[in-house]
Amino acid sequence: MATHRLPPFSPPTRTRTGRPITALICALAVGTATACAPSEGAVAPSPGATAPSQVAAGPASPGAGTSAMGAPGIGDPDFPDDGNGGYDVQHYGLRLSYDPPSRKLAGSATIEAKAVQDLTSFNLDLHGLTVSRVTVDGAAASFSRSRDELVIEPARRIGNGDGFAVTVDYGGVPEPMRDSANLGRYGFIPTADGAFVTCEPNGAKTWFPSNDHPADKATYDFHITVPEGLTAIANGEMTGTPRTTAGKTTFVWRESHPMASYLATMTTGKFQVRTGKSDKGVPIYTAVADSFRGSLDTLFTQTGKITDYWSTVFGPYPFSSTGGVIDDYAAGYALENQTKPIYGGFAPEPAIIAHELAHQWFGDSLSIGRWRDLWLNEGFATYAEWLWAEHSGQYTADSVFRRYYDNAADPMWTYPPGTARADDLFSAAVYNRGAMTLHALRREIGDQKFFPLIREWTDAHRYGNVTTQEFIALAERVSGKDLKGLFDAWLFQPKRPAPLS
Ligand SMILES: [Zn+2]
Repeated sequence: MATHRLPPFSPPTRTRTGRPITALICALAVGTATACAPSEGAVAPSPGATAPSQVAAGPASPGAGTSAMGAPGIGDPDFPDDGNGGYDVQHYGLRLSYDPPSRKLAGSATIEAKAVQDLTSFNLDLHGLTVSRVTVDGAAASFSRSRDELVIEPARRIGNGDGFAVTVDYGGVPEPMRDSANLGRYGFIPTADGAFVTCEPNGAKTWFPSNDHPADKATYDFHITVPEGLTAIANGEMTGTPRTTAGKTTFVWRESHPMASYLATMTTGKFQVRTGKSDKGVPIYTAVADSFRGSLDTLFTQTGKITDYWSTVFGPYPFSSTGGVIDDYAAGYALENQTKPIYGGFAPEPAIIAHELAHQWFGDSLSIGRWRDLWLNEGFATYAEWLWAEHSGQYTADSVFRRYYDNAADPMWTYPPGTARADDLFSAAVYNRGAMTLHALRREIGDQKFFPLIREWTDAHRYGNVTTQEFIALAERVSGKDLKGLFDAWLFQPKRPAPLS
């Protein structure tokens, strides 16, 4: 997800939801309830080809007749229960119906996956909700629940390398995740007229059974039925005109590029919508809650303009559409939902739109495989705010860098951003010191190497998973310099690095 903060020099005068916006930023910095969105990390170089879940898969599959259980976690050392091992999801087909008055969600999820070991059982992540039926390749499967794990035993063993499809029928009243140390409230959050759905880092399981970790990306189809008059917004593009029957309207969306589970959304409510294209021809879908109708045109225009500008800086826009959603749920943060960042209860400043749209490259197209690498999302998106300020003539990246650097008492100096902590993922250190790392790199290798490096980075790992070590290796190759000392000082040491030369 992405949280939203304002640029460092914003005047503290604007308010929303009764609080100064800068207070929100600071709140983020000290780890209170606003959340940012980390992304994924590292393991699979290309979607579908290798399974990130391989890292986490359980013990080598035993011979026929013995048990071969998929691991209950994907292998992220800081989030051991997140995701699952033994398979790699290719596609989620989600059929969902939501009734805001009763807050009841009814769903049928078909998950197409490929086994990366023999499987006599495997897990999906699911928080709350009641499962009524599970089938694997059309045959009824037995299942059990244990906390947020749905354990499925297919009628027949699945062989290593086999594709299979599991369908889960489920329903109930979704319960958002609560994590006061990190994100506050996230996942599927009911609102007065629908739902606000932002899932970083592991809230997808609040509304669909999933391999809920960014190391396993997949494509998605969404069929979402809501009462007539409401709009259901998911990722990617609508595949047709919404159809209304008997007072209910069904919206069909498709995200045809690999997506981390936390970036999926089914935000629902009364929205004003504006669609069109950017100057460079990227389709745009923007929507705002009725109370933000005055912000729709600005959101539309800025989204197109910033998407186009980033495509000249970071490389071609990775997805088939761009956009943004302002809901009236006062989350106090924004999240970079793939193709449609969502702003929770505020009309975003351009710097925030710049941050969330930069995440379409850093976090969404290139996803981390472990949460501790979150600076690869947030450091880059924060640096994008500085680049946007440079581009729009507000201030230079160098001036922000110096201002942060000069504060020797900033707590970020004791938090090395290269190892984001599970209990404080969205620390300001991950954002600001992460961005400073990039600025130190830029100063060391010069603009003529730095910007081609960034474009090579987004090109080489498009739609895949990435690690910090891969970024360091590429930076050294592109620059021809030994940069281990620079990255070690900025990312991994609990003290303020030496000043830039
Ligand atoms: Zn962010």
